[in-house]
Parts: sequence; C-alpha cells; structure tokens
Amino acid sequence: MSSGLGRVVIVGAGHAGSAAAAALRQFGWAGRVTLIGEEPLPPYQRPPLSKAWLKGDADFAGLLLRPAAFYPANAIELRLSERVVRIDRPAKAVRLITGEAIRYDCLILALGAAARPLNVPGAALRGVLALRSVPDAEALRRALRRGVRLVVIGGGYIGLEVAASARVLGAEVTVIERESRVLSRVACPALSDFFAREHVARGVRLECGAAVEALEGAGGAVAGARLSDGRLLAADLVLVGVGAGPNQTLAREAALACDDGIVVNERARSSDPNIFAIGDCARRPLPLYGRTMRLESVPNALEMAKQAAAALCGRGPPVPEVPWFWSDQYELRLQIAGLPFDVAQTVSRGNPETGGFALFHLTADDMVRAVEAVNAAPEFMAGKTMIARLRRVAAERLRDPRHTLQELAS
Ligand code: FAD
Repeated sequence: MSSGLGRVVIVGAGHAGSAAAAALRQFGWAGRVTLIGEEPLPPYQRPPLSKAWLKGDADFAGLLLRPAAFYPANAIELRLSERVVRIDRPAKAVRLITGEAIRYDCLILALGAAARPLNVPGAALRGVLALRSVPDAEALRRALRRGVRLVVIGGGYIGLEVAASARVLGAEVTVIERESRVLSRVACPALSDFFAREHVARGVRLECGAAVEALEGAGGAVAGARLSDGRLLAADLVLVGVGAGPNQTLAREAALACDDGIVVNERARSSDPNIFAIGDCARRPLPLYGRTMRLESVPNALEMAKQAAAALCGRGPPVPEVPWFWSDQYELRLQIAGLPFDVAQTVSRGNPETGGFALFHLTADDMVRAVEAVNAAPEFMAGKTMIARLRRVAAERLRDPRHTLQELAS
C-alpha cells in the first residue's frame, strides 16, 4: 500500500500511535487515518507522570503530546474511549468492544505495555498502586503527602523516579529491590552504586536483595510489606514498579508472530505485511547491535512510528538510530545512548563527586557501544555520535580531558 490512498487504522493512541498518525500526514499519506485509543484522554506523555507532574511542577495541558485541534486539522480521526478487542485478518478489520467493525487497508498496532502485577498476597489492598496512566498518577499524587510512609517495590527507573519525587514532597520512602543493586537490568554497576548513594543521601531507605513475600493490611488498606526474611516494613502506600510487559494479546490471538513483543522487521512490519507494530509492544531489530529487542522508551516509540509511516508512504527507511533514554531523579539528569552489548571496558570522564560525569562502554577493540551520562549532556551527545559512527577510541584518549569531545567524536 504505497499509493497513500487506503485507510490506515492505528490501534493505541499513546506516544507511538499519535506519532505515527502525524508522520503519515507529514510524509504525504492522502488516505484516511483513524487513531483508536481506549483511554478517554487525547494522546499524552507518560514520562512526567513520575517526575515533574507528580511533584506538581507541570500542569495537565503540558502533558498532551499535541493540542486537541491538531487531529481534526490533519484529518486524523481520533476515536477515544474505544477498545479494540479483535483483529480479523481475513476481513482486514478490527472489532471494537461495542461490536463495531472498522475496516483497514493497513493496520498499525501501537498498544504499549502494561505494568506487571505483583503476585503476592495482599496485592489488591487499598493503597497498593501501579503507575502507567494519568488516573494511576492522579491516585498516587493524591496519596503522596508529607510524612506518608511510601514503600516502593522495584528499584528500576519508575520506582526510583517516584522515590525521588516522593522525597521532594516530604514522604518517608523505602525502596525494596530483589536484585543486589538498583537499576540492575538497565545500568552498569557503577551507575547503580551512584544512584543508590544519591537516594540514601536524600533520606531514602534502600533494601536491596530483599523480596516481598506479602503485603499486609488493616481494614482493607495496606499497612506494611512483609519481606522473606520476616521483617515487616510499615507502609501507608505501596507503589509497585516491577516492570512492564508488552500488550500483545490482540496480536497473539490474530496469530501474528510474538516473542515478548510483536515481532517486526526493520521497517516495523509484523509477520502480516499489512500489519505494523511500533513502540513498547514491538520486538524490533537493532541494526547497530545485530540483535532484536523490545525497548520501552519515548525515542524508540518515535523512531518506530517513523519507520512504519515511511514504509507505508513508500519512502526509504530512516537511518538506523542509536537507541537512547533519559531519567530525571532529584536534580540529576541521566541520559543513556546505545546498549552495552559485547563491552569489555568502561571509561569514566568527569567526576561524580563534583559535577557531571559519563561512563563510556567499549568493546575489547575500542568501539564505543554505550554511554551513560549524568548531568553531562555534551558527553552524552558526543558518545551518541561515536556510537552511530562506529568509532574506535582508545580508552586512554577517552579518559584524558586534554582530548576534547569534539576531537574524539569526529
Ligand atoms: P503507550 O504510550 O503506553 O500507549 C499505548 C496506548 O495504547 C495506551 O493508551 C493504551 O491504553 C492503548 N491501548 C492498548 N491496547 C488497546 C486496545 N486494545 N484498544 C485501544 N487502545 C489500546 N520513556 C523515556 O524514554 N524516558 C522516560 O523518562 C520515561 N519515563 C516514564 C515514566 C512513566 C511513569 C512511564 C509509565 C513510562 C515512562 N517512559 C519513559 C516510557 C514511555 O512512556 C513509553 O516507552 C512510551 O509511552 C511508549 O509509547 P507507546 O505508544 O508504545 O505506548
């Protein structure tokens, strides 16, 4: 379908779905574009829900990805509060929960991910919250008051960001992490140690290597988290941040290939050539790293939206991007570019004690594969360029501040 005259239906009106609709129009798609989302709100950003918005530093209008008028102005039919329950591939139609069938020529699945539930007794008690959507964030914000005892289960990005925001709001915060260090799946040990120290210095109690066995309640509301070593941590509020899983049931039921994510090629096409999958719900190839992965990040959602829209509009694929991510905790801005596959050495620039710093991860033959930068935007940008250019930089040069970033990246 490269004529641009058919109907594209996009299921999921989040970051990826709304970006795909916009990119289709930007790339000249002349046919119908229908964007269907089950949430009642127009597409909005999730990152501020654990950061600026949670702390009260951003208003709701600032969350919206595009003004509501953008959609009619670009002939994008935005259908909110509508849930798609089935894909009928032979009929090329999706079915809504109301029974209505909507035909498509091409379908883009932008279904996102869902917060993983905590499977322990007491997980359904009042005051046990997850964080994925605006209603989740509103419930959390209402409950976060000075002195409230918050237990965060999971020391990943969302858990640590909420811990930081809650401390700023005056809550007493404990973070429980099953692994031996925070951010264990997503950051190198040195970075984990840095963030652990920063949280502890700001009054967060950190329990690593600790498993929650049960949540205990009083009068239907949560009152504490019981650890497997028998200790009970008192809590008025529990945030479960134990990761997210891809929303892939629709695809699986339609017999599309799935493997922790809807499997797509480098143009975001699924195993059905008329169906694309983008964003958190998709498992995609990463050409720079020679493997496939499911990524949960805004830059990935935007990139895949471009890939799908370009393929549909008969344009060449976008240049393979360097995956990147950011996280804000207190006044610390973490930016990560690349992925630390096949790395053999880590080089540090800057000084964590006195200001910004960056950790560059290199292969044994000096190829820069990833950079983790804290309050160090120039190092992040230079590292991203080095990764994209497959630059080899000797560790001693990278470490030596007499060599400028510009010189190293060019
Ligand atoms: P989503 O934005 O989740 O959108 C999917 C949409 O599809 C949802 O609205 C869902 O309701 C809808 N949907 C699903 N199934 C159906 C159906 N059957 N019918 C109709 N609609 C359906 N990323 C970063 O890069 N940096 C950050 O700092 C960062 N912080 C984050 C903080 C929080 C609290 C959260 C939750 C996420 C954060 N992320 C961050 C991740 C980022 O928000 C996601 O990667 C991004 O939203 C993915 O976009 P998406 O469109 O794939 O999924």
